[in-house]
Amino acid sequence: MANISEAEIRQVVSQVLNKMQSAAATNYDSTHYGTRKFVGIFADMNDAIEAAGAAYRAVRAMSVEKREELITEIRRLTRAEAEIMAALGVAETGMGRVAHKTAKHILVADKTPGTEDIVSNAKTGDNGLTLVEMAPFGVVGAITPSTNPSETVICNSIGMIAAGNGVVFNPHPNAIATSNYAVDLVNRASKAVGGPEVLVCSMVKPTLESAAVMQSHPAVRLLVCTGGPGVVKAVLSSGKKAIGAGAGNPPVIVDDTADVKKAGKDIIDGCTFDNNLPCIAEKEVFAFRNIADELISSMLKNGAYLIDSKQAEQLAAIVLEEKKDKSGRVRKVISRNCVGRDAKVLLEKIGVNVSDDIRCIICETNFEHPFVQEELMMPILPIVRVNNIDEAIDLAVKAEHGNRHTAHMHSKNIDNLSRFARAVETTIFVKNAPSYAGIGFGGEGHATFTIAGPTGEGITSARSFTRQRRCVMADSFRII
Ligand code: NAD
Repeated sequence: MANISEAEIRQVVSQVLNKMQSAAATNYDSTHYGTRKFVGIFADMNDAIEAAGAAYRAVRAMSVEKREELITEIRRLTRAEAEIMAALGVAETGMGRVAHKTAKHILVADKTPGTEDIVSNAKTGDNGLTLVEMAPFGVVGAITPSTNPSETVICNSIGMIAAGNGVVFNPHPNAIATSNYAVDLVNRASKAVGGPEVLVCSMVKPTLESAAVMQSHPAVRLLVCTGGPGVVKAVLSSGKKAIGAGAGNPPVIVDDTADVKKAGKDIIDGCTFDNNLPCIAEKEVFAFRNIADELISSMLKNGAYLIDSKQAEQLAAIVLEEKKDKSGRVRKVISRNCVGRDAKVLLEKIGVNVSDDIRCIICETNFEHPFVQEELMMPILPIVRVNNIDEAIDLAVKAEHGNRHTAHMHSKNIDNLSRFARAVETTIFVKNAPSYAGIGFGGEGHATFTIAGPTGEGITSARSFTRQRRCVMADSFRII
């Protein structure tokens, strides 16, 4: 019999424990998971902010080395419990895929920058030395989405704590157990290495009212909001410094110089990642007419199912509901019962039964089709044929709706690539790869789940949650 190392035994034991804990996934709410009661969860936002204030004072008094020790433990626990949080996220929200959510947690653990991201600057000259340091804001109020709930809580916590802040979360009510699991995980990590018992805080029952308390509380110095257009607008009108990470509707252009087979596979891989929940995921394709058939054929070989225009109308009537807005205008809104669902489940709704390996629904549409115009966050991908690069860029820019969030292109023509990148002005532009390469998954660069386009911080990291402070020593300390 082959020798089994201690590390392998530990890995097997940890997997078995995780599986046992996953079984507890039926017994959870915003305050506990199985028999474990969460730490740092408050009934009143004012109490949560007070506790976050105490945590801030503790973090401020901590050495950078200690902060980093704490973050290392958050990373370790995140890796160890990634599968549990992924399963819980799917169970609670009904959205996404466990394997992909697991990968997202590992990505956060591995590639979210820590204290190394905080770098001071010095300037010396005839008048002495001036030092610019990146200081914490104090208590950060963070609003998080249902689409990447625990991933965002952990990613925000690592960056905000690395920067020396305290954090209070007002998570999405539909993902509150998963978000609070992550809050508790951060607090367990803190306690394990001798940090404060309550390092980050959250609510038993987050509401728009508790968000409003957070936004107007004098102790909250920075608001960080990850979500759709409504919430970003709300925090930006709060009168406080705010970081807004808003909605996207990423277009993809495929021209006739692309490796079309690879483009088909990359697009399906990106579009179906966590059932299209990530805001960066491919949402609509503009394909040159002369390669569109080859592209569709590659997609079909990679888990796509092609529906005709009649089926597309049937599906549109189900996944988009008509609702009156405040002014009485009828608007199409995405059905929450369809967001993040498997392609197979969505196809069943129009009477089509497919095997489990079908992961994406594709269809040819015109530009005006709601599948192109709306941010569906489902594995449904409309394909619009275009005649040339001018038409492709024009339509893709319009479909992005000025979010300036994310766009993708498959091409070997550097002029076409540059022209689209310049025209679309997105925070993330991915060339010849699946969308997730843009957040460090198979692409260079750090990871984040808070992509702040509207307020300009971009791919946020610890330094995004800091404020500059200048310290001047006149006429001394230039030692050369
Ligand atoms: P959502 O907009 O429904 O909710 C986000 C959060 O905002 C929730 O916590 C919600 O309770 C809260 N909220 C909503 N309206 C509010 C208001 N008026 N005041 C205070 N709080 C309010 O988002 P969702 O459906 O969970 O997530 C999907 C959306 O978020 C998509 O549009 C997606 O593109 C976007 N998103 C963007 C990023 C990014 O990094 N830019 C990341 C993830 C999700």
